[in-house]
Amino acid sequence: MNDTLFGRIIRREIPATIVYEDDDILGFKDIAPQAPVHVLFVPKGAVIPTLDDATPEQATLLGRLMLAAAGYARREGFARDGYRVVMNCREHAGQTVFHVHLHLLAGAPLGHFGTP
Ligand code: 5GP
Repeated sequence: MNDTLFGRIIRREIPATIVYEDDDILGFKDIAPQAPVHVLFVPKGAVIPTLDDATPEQATLLGRLMLAAAGYARREGFARDGYRVVMNCREHAGQTVFHVHLHLLAGAPLGHFGTP
């Protein structure tokens, strides 16, 4: 098991507001939300520091992060209004936790993104 900050949240060593869990994925609220809804979806077992480290064998797991976020959005009732999913990879994207994770942002118009 990986010893990142998110590994410690997965092991319940540090608190988080957990909103989703299945056998392979944990979803919890971001501590510094960038939108009214900001949830992080992380793999519970596999050690994948960044998207660039992912292998073809991990494609299904990565896809399941997306589907976990989409399912959460549908259940919480904001899928029709829309949302954004983001995965930061390394320095230029501002990645700070090296345990691959998907951001789900929603709850208000999010504007454009990608401008430096
Ligand atoms: P990154 O910048 O690596 O894509 O995303 C890391 C995210 O983790 C950031 O949005 C940051 O606010 C969040 N984060 C950092 N520390 C904690 C924490 O202790 N608990 C929770 N729930 N989120 C955290």
